[in-house]
Amino acid sequence: MTYVGRFAPSPSGPLHAGSLVAALASYLDARAAGGRWLLRIEDVDKPRSVPGADRVIMGQLEALGLHWDGEVIWQSARDAVYQHAFDDLAARGLIYGCGCTRREIAEAADARTQGVDILADSERPYAGTCRHGLPPGRAARAWRLRVPAGIEVFEDRWLGQQRQDVARAVGDFVLRRADGLWAYQLAVVVDDGAQNVTDVVRGADLLTSTARQHVLARMLGLTPPRVMHVPLILDPRTGLKLSKQNHAPALDLTQPVVTLNQAWQALGFTPLTASHPETFLRAACAAWAARWR
Ligand code: GLU
Repeated sequence: MTYVGRFAPSPSGPLHAGSLVAALASYLDARAAGGRWLLRIEDVDKPRSVPGADRVIMGQLEALGLHWDGEVIWQSARDAVYQHAFDDLAARGLIYGCGCTRREIAEAADARTQGVDILADSERPYAGTCRHGLPPGRAARAWRLRVPAGIEVFEDRWLGQQRQDVARAVGDFVLRRADGLWAYQLAVVVDDGAQNVTDVVRGADLLTSTARQHVLARMLGLTPPRVMHVPLILDPRTGLKLSKQNHAPALDLTQPVVTLNQAWQALGFTPLTASHPETFLRAACAAWAARWR
């Protein structure tokens, strides 16, 4: 199978040192495999998308020599594709309307999850309140997937074998949000499938989404991609993940090789000497191939 990788930034702001690590790793992994590297702008969450941030990100990637293959796709233009997947699941009785408010979800989860080991983040599983029908007088707000029971096991190329009981740790998750927007989980799975993505290389903050994405992919008749979750960069002052929300500083594009070397070191390699991004990336690609392929 020919390798197809992708970088899928959400345009909520410019790339920062943390998102560059994911971009660089996915680029190198694709190039080291002789594969294609696609760029997908994940602007499905319209309220969080910043106008113009997509173009800024594209300019940053170009300035760093991270050239993608083929046409860029924007999730905001793919409503019909997500609707089609949603209708397909609905026709098979695999989704249901949920009338719960945020507060009700949190309260039901707290009552149910005492003693359950939930993977990392602060997310609380959905208790399944509306699974067998909306309570009287309630209208559907969001639409959820009926998650089958069972443990999802997958191999992460960086982190090793992972497992998650999606039904217990996550519960029936949202595919269409209460504000009418498509959920990231649906869009990412549909698009990785539509673009024949074989390999997802991304930041470790998305590790906890992987098992549910694999479950959904199979329910849609898709083969889940191989995955590799690379380290996050932590803000030295706060110890929190570097992110746009935490006001990560802008990337320095005046010294592209220095900027690339910082991301490269975050991936566990020693700095490379190069005069241009192109020569840097050629050397990095060879070192990546020796380590990972
Ligand atoms: N759009 C997501 C983000 O920027 C990444 C999705 C993915 O790589 O699967 O966090």
